[in-house]
Amino acid sequence: FGLLEERDPEVAALLLDEVERVRGGLQLIASENFASPAVLAALGSTLSNKYAEGYPGGRYYGGCEVVDRAERLAVKRARELFGAEHANVQPHSGASANLAAYAALLQPGDRMLAMALPHGGHLTHGSRANFSGRWFDVASYGVRRDTELIDYDEVRDLALRHQPKLIVCGATAYPRLIDFGVFRGIADEVGAWLMADVAHPMGLIAARAIPSPVPEADVVTFTTHKTLRGPRGGGILCTAELAARIDRAVFPFTQGGPMMHAVAAKAVAFGEALRPEFAGYARQVIANARALSEALAEAGMRPVTGGTDTHLALIDVRGLGVTGAEAELRCAAAGITLNRNAIPYDPEPPRVTSGVRVGTPCVTTQGLEPRDLREVGALVARAVRDQESAADVRDKVTALLGIHQPYMDQ
Ligand code: PLP
Repeated sequence: FGLLEERDPEVAALLLDEVERVRGGLQLIASENFASPAVLAALGSTLSNKYAEGYPGGRYYGGCEVVDRAERLAVKRARELFGAEHANVQPHSGASANLAAYAALLQPGDRMLAMALPHGGHLTHGSRANFSGRWFDVASYGVRRDTELIDYDEVRDLALRHQPKLIVCGATAYPRLIDFGVFRGIADEVGAWLMADVAHPMGLIAARAIPSPVPEADVVTFTTHKTLRGPRGGGILCTAELAARIDRAVFPFTQGGPMMHAVAAKAVAFGEALRPEFAGYARQVIANARALSEALAEAGMRPVTGGTDTHLALIDVRGLGVTGAEAELRCAAAGITLNRNAIPYDPEPPRVTSGVRVGTPCVTTQGLEPRDLREVGALVARAVRDQESAADVRDKVTALLGIHQPYMDQ
């Protein structure tokens, strides 16, 4: 870092400002985490320089003997961690992993069935604003109005009616477990492939804290930077039968050279997730999310579905007379970072919304415990209810974070 400060003080200052920003407040964005210094070291390595189109033992560039070892290690650890027959660790992101998975299984115009964005699905699950909605014929399922849970009967009816070639399960703002076995049964009934996009909960799955989509799903896509706490990136697991198709769909179909520094950093993160401590972290993430969700409920902020089984809660903020956008702004003023989020059957437009999404990966990595999260819930509710309290809430946030700030030793 000293070198960067000397050569480019402008960028160095910006990096320090970002460290200050995260240390100065509570980070409750459900898709974020604090990767370890070991992961960040691999990301900042000379492996970034190396071109390595292809796969270990079959590259289109010379000099790949070292990066081959890095990729083989990442693949071996991913397969061990998730019990998968095959792993591809090259996707640059979750969206790239989904693009490649669709490319492996579908032709343009083919029909797929996935969760609707306003009900918790991701953009890449068929939104018209995304390639998935433009290039495929997408039917969408949602959650029930009364329970706010996935309506498996509706999924089955839609599958029977539309006969999709691919069914996608997995979501970006769904706080409950997904029954991969039921999805497998529906996919089998209509002869569809089943893909599970577990971008969000993959760290909890790695730790066996929640059920795994392996082996039910034919293809599993994921990100490495959310609950899994690795570098920003994506990955794909699949059956041995689909291995060659998935690999070709990543390279050369949707990507060029892999980012070998990121591949090495993924190997580090998989190694960390294989250690026994990671199971404790994952269990604590869930216990913390439950404590936060309960505290918010007590303070008049309704958790969608009544609670959570995972790392995140989706909160209906209308009880406090605000929109999601207002709640996000008021929390920001009090040093609490979270994001507005549509709730199922939301009457407000996507930029406004009636909800916020909160998650506990960051605060758990920092060492906060359920009793702290109960306090966090009370602080969030106070910041949202009373704009005048922002400065006082900010002070309390600072006191709460005290010894728990990230990257203190670095
Ligand atoms: N799939 C799901 C379910 C997600 O929640 C996300 C990101 O939030 C993605 C895919 C895309 O990941 P990325 O932002 O790395 O492209």
